[in-house]
Amino acid sequence: MRHFRLISILILISSLLLGACQTLASPDSEKPSVFVSIPPQKYFVERIAGKTVNVSIMVEPGAEPHTYEPKPAQMAALANADLYFSIGDSFEDTWLVRIIDTNPDLQIIDTAAGIEKRPLDIHMHEEEGEDHQEGLDPHIWLSPRLVKIQARTIYDALVELNPEEKVDYDINFVAFLRDINILETNLTTGFADVSQHRFMVYHPSWGYFADEYGLEQIAIEIGGTEPSPSELASIIEQAKSNDIHVIFAQPEFNSRFADTIAEQIDGEVLLISPLEENWMKNMDNLGNVLISGLSKE
Ligand code: ZN
Repeated sequence: MRHFRLISILILISSLLLGACQTLASPDSEKPSVFVSIPPQKYFVERIAGKTVNVSIMVEPGAEPHTYEPKPAQMAALANADLYFSIGDSFEDTWLVRIIDTNPDLQIIDTAAGIEKRPLDIHMHEEEGEDHQEGLDPHIWLSPRLVKIQARTIYDALVELNPEEKVDYDINFVAFLRDINILETNLTTGFADVSQHRFMVYHPSWGYFADEYGLEQIAIEIGGTEPSPSELASIIEQAKSNDIHVIFAQPEFNSRFADTIAEQIDGEVLLISPLEENWMKNMDNLGNVLISGLSKE
């Protein structure tokens, strides 16, 4: 009898220990590790994967993405990552090579695959004979239509990574597409009635978005550099002649020039980041702000 009790106690202790060990090994560390370049991509991945993967963002909030340099700790974390969803921006080229060096097993998924990129907006001062950056517009995450293509690429890669979760991923993917369709309908309806189709931006992030809804962005920044005083004067003239009253600035860049122009044209500066993690909420908010800004008069 006493023997039996001793055994029961031993079983109890060992099961307690086992339980403790399982708690110590955090379940998170067993999930696949997925990296993305910018915060909205984390939203895209999590809309499909839910909490089944750990998502890390390379370009931290507030940082300027096009010239980002990863921190040593991020490079170390990437050594153990399973998947990297690139967005196809030039900043990735410089260090994706280094990442593959440290982690040859890392799978890099180009979420810009299947997307035809628009050329960067040719700046209005081109006739003055300045040098301009040639190339393609990297801001593909700001068009709902193009985000559906990116979501499909992400979905395919996640199913390949985690085939046992396919049923859930299917459900989440369909729900995500449905929500994007609702967003698109709202934006199309809202922009159908605006009286003004041009808006000014500091950094030209909104080209794909503008193309989608029959709008035109006029950029203050020229090829990644601040405008000179004469350029600034000419931008102000252009804003006046186009009757522009809405200027978008973003927290990642200095809004000094936007403020100066706004004073001159009796406009308002709206601070909107194209890099907010909650992409859906941000696009909805941006849409509402822009629709009301372009509807005045
Ligand atoms: Zn940008």
